[in-house]
Amino acid sequence: MSIQEREDAHTSGLYQKRPLAIVRGEGALVWDAYGNELIDCVGGQGSANLGHGNAAVADAIAAQARTLASCTELFYNDRRAELYDLLSSLLPSELDRIFLCNSGTEAIEGALKFARMATGRTGVVATMRGFHGKTMGALAATWGPEYREALGGAALFPGATHIAFNKVEALDAAITADTAAFVVELVQGEGGVRPATNEFVREAVRLCRERGALLIVDEVQTGFCRTGAFFAIERYGIVPDILCLAKSIAGGVPMGAIAFSRRVGDLPKRSHSTTFGGNPLACAAAVAAIGEMRRLDLARCARERGEQLQAGLRGIESPRVREVRGLGLLAGIELKENAGPTIKALQDLGVLALGAGPTVVRYLPPLVITAAQVELVVAATATALAT
Ligand SMILES: *Cc1c(COP(=O)(O)O)cnc(C)c1O
Repeated sequence: MSIQEREDAHTSGLYQKRPLAIVRGEGALVWDAYGNELIDCVGGQGSANLGHGNAAVADAIAAQARTLASCTELFYNDRRAELYDLLSSLLPSELDRIFLCNSGTEAIEGALKFARMATGRTGVVATMRGFHGKTMGALAATWGPEYREALGGAALFPGATHIAFNKVEALDAAITADTAAFVVELVQGEGGVRPATNEFVREAVRLCRERGALLIVDEVQTGFCRTGAFFAIERYGIVPDILCLAKSIAGGVPMGAIAFSRRVGDLPKRSHSTTFGGNPLACAAAVAAIGEMRRLDLARCARERGEQLQAGLRGIESPRVREVRGLGLLAGIELKENAGPTIKALQDLGVLALGAGPTVVRYLPPLVITAAQVELVVAATATALAT
């Protein structure tokens, strides 16, 4: 039986899978079960910023697994202390409290709870096309009524509203004295690679302050050098009250984090927790991964290769293209048609790309992708769009 047949026999059926089994990776390249090489612009959907097979992360995981893998936050731990130090050295000084968890959706769940507990309010304002995960609480913020329909629709999270992204006037109407938090991505990833305007972000900061709501910025996809800075908040020059992180934080090992400011205040003891949060294995992986991101200056890589990729994509003359958008190495082409056939054509040409909404082809490669590989990605895209 093939890998695909064995998975299909037991898979949940919830994922829309491509008929391709990936078995190995190195840098921005991956190989399928038959030994075919592909350029990976899916990048673990944003969890592989550091590239596949990083030796420093692999060594740190192996060493920590032999030393101590499990240690809950009932106790203190050396690796966790090291990670707190490292994260807070990268983050704005206001964000000096950190809760460690295990995924992006879990970071959003916690952030929504913190905001409700801190403000005593229940309202959550989010944006249309926003994506914040799919667990029950995070679904309050995620756009896509289809995800909520079978679960009670609007009743799932009373007090949640969605406003048009980048529409400044909508902020003023939506953020009120009942709003616990406004949740936003600085570049909508799943929603079609749409960067927020400076004006929208600044007005959100101002209104949240003025009306006593907390600003939650979701950097699960934009974090860890993706947009050309360690965090996209640096590119926008803002400091939120709560910052959600995950995906590439630990070099591919599952981990999430919620960084928050004193504005959140003291949270009641035991009001939130998770067994695996801050486990030494994930902390060791994160310490090594962040060290490598710094050593390799991945923020600069994302700026330079991102500029190259976006310029290359803009240079493709095709009547099928509506627009090229992006920030750093989070890039997308919006087509005038369904993106599916182009993504399939790219795969046949040896480039893995992602969708982002029905008409957008999204590129989320490891930030270690080389200039020559970016050139190949652009050439393959031109070919895919010419046929
Ligand atoms: C992927 C993603 C999430 C959800 O993260 P999971 O680890 O898949 O739960 C939340 N927000 C954004 C912006 C994301 O890209």
